[in-house]
Amino acid sequence: MSEERSVFSKIVSGEIPATLLADTERVIAFPDIAPQAPVHILIVPKTEEYHNVVELAAGDPDLLAEVIAVAKSLAEEHTGGEFRLVFNTGASAGQTVFHVHAHLLGGALAEGTLAGA
Ligand code: 5GP
Repeated sequence: MSEERSVFSKIVSGEIPATLLADTERVIAFPDIAPQAPVHILIVPKTEEYHNVVELAAGDPDLLAEVIAVAKSLAEEHTGGEFRLVFNTGASAGQTVFHVHAHLLGGALAEGTLAGA
């Protein structure tokens, strides 16, 4: 664990407010503060042990599966069941928060966004 806690850990603990759209034993989800699609939800493991999806897949594949299951469930509720799931991995790929998280994106994406195209 780094001494500097991530912004997402502060959301998990309630120090930073967020509207929780899902809250399981190990995962939370809330709207991105700077949405880049009509639906833009972050799905975040409560632990900050894993910095990116590669570490998460290697260290706790069941937790990665839970992130994806929560994404599916939220997509059924918010995007008609079809969605894009993005894990930015590394600063040059656009990652700014090094506490693993999935971006659930639904609806038409704006130009020059996470879609990358
Ligand atoms: P990354 O760039 O690391 O893939 O994604 C981090 C995301 O976290 C960004 O899309 C950013 O808008 C979002 N974000 C950063 N700080 C906050 C916050 O305090 N609240 C919420 N809801 N989203 C945040």
